[in-house]
Amino acid sequence: MIESGSAFMAKATVKASDMEHRRKINFNIGRYNSAVPGGQAQFSDLQLARQRAKNLKWRALETLDQQLEDFEMNLTKKGGKVIWAENTDQALEAILAICQERQCKTVVKSKSMVTEEIHLNDFLSKHGIESIETDLGEYIQQLDGEPPYHIVTPAMHKSKEDIAKLFSDKLGTDPRLTPEQLTLVARDILRAKYVQAEVGVTGANFIIADTGSIAVTENEGNARLSTAFPKTHIVVVGLEKVIPSITDLALFWPLLATFGTGQKVTAYNSILSGPSASGEEDGPREMFVILLDNGRTSILANPVQRESLYCIRCGACLNACPVYKNIGGHSYGTTYSGPIGSVITPHLKDLGQYKHLSYASSLCGNCTEVCPVRINLHELLLENRHESVDEHTNGWKEGLSWKVWKRISLSRRLMNAGSPKMKDYMVAHFVKDWGRRRAKLAFSPKTFNEMWREQRM
Ligand code: SF4
Repeated sequence: MIESGSAFMAKATVKASDMEHRRKINFNIGRYNSAVPGGQAQFSDLQLARQRAKNLKWRALETLDQQLEDFEMNLTKKGGKVIWAENTDQALEAILAICQERQCKTVVKSKSMVTEEIHLNDFLSKHGIESIETDLGEYIQQLDGEPPYHIVTPAMHKSKEDIAKLFSDKLGTDPRLTPEQLTLVARDILRAKYVQAEVGVTGANFIIADTGSIAVTENEGNARLSTAFPKTHIVVVGLEKVIPSITDLALFWPLLATFGTGQKVTAYNSILSGPSASGEEDGPREMFVILLDNGRTSILANPVQRESLYCIRCGACLNACPVYKNIGGHSYGTTYSGPIGSVITPHLKDLGQYKHLSYASSLCGNCTEVCPVRINLHELLLENRHESVDEHTNGWKEGLSWKVWKRISLSRRLMNAGSPKMKDYMVAHFVKDWGRRRAKLAFSPKTFNEMWREQRM
């Protein structure tokens, strides 16, 4: 198996020189950039709104145990059921048990990164259950057999021509269909699935402690349809998504819309508080909320990294990141890409195996600048580097190289001793990657001391 750092370098190298990929990404991020100021204009004091949001998430995470217990108590009162899952296996087992008890053959699923994290579709398919993505971008990605490219815009790297071709190849449609016609094709297929599915699966943008509800934000109405027709609704959500009160949505909804897509408010915002009550005709008869830990409490236990749990998954840091814009979402090889993915993945998975992501950053701070909840992303990337050194995950060779470098740098005599030829040799043998896409380093034939003396004479 290729080590994940090497796989990342290989994929990133290919993408960084793919001009067509860059054109598509720049086009889509350009549209996002021109929409965002319109959303921001609704805030009389945007910085204050961001700080308030950060404070609210701070409070929610500092009292997480209490908030989640309140949520469970309040949802249970309304007939919902909370399932606590420590890891992927527990979450998948719980979902499978619910599906099998109901003899489920088809699941309709709205967009949810956490179900990507646990690879739900593949798991259900292995157990003979069809799981259909109902968000258009996710549906396109599922048709293409690819994971989402971006946490908000799953098919951001595809042009309308790419999608028309994909539909033609997979569904036999005319390759000249317009985006509107393609949407109608997907809609026809998906509408049949909503009424056929026994179970609907969604994520949640927020877990609301004081009312025992979940809030779902979307632009297509597919999450509403996924929860309206099937008799059973399963919510899979990371336990950090909690907010203390339903009134906090007045701040979080516009922030999420503005930083996610540049809208003032997203087209559909639903608050779901348990299954349908007796006498109500629409809605599921049962509602399960799976609260997934999967490494989040180990982030919570780290007082510096805890801040990364404030993330509301708006995707703004991805759009702002010069590295993401060049290498694209798939190079990361992880569910969460871009700056936030590089911060949390080493902690959700394995620091040793994913530490390279924290080095894939110029530390320019653009990500921190745009984050609606003011997460100090670039400082957390730096902190990941510190932790990886402290935990000796970088290997003895790197440690030795830095020791040698320090020793030489602190000695004028040793600095002067290196001839240009010796420096060329060092670069050629010890910093091989430097020369692959860069001009050859031209070392001065004279040392700094020699030039200084000449100037003074
Ligand atoms: S870290 Fe901030 S900018 Fe990035 S996705 Fe999360 S909330 Fe958005």
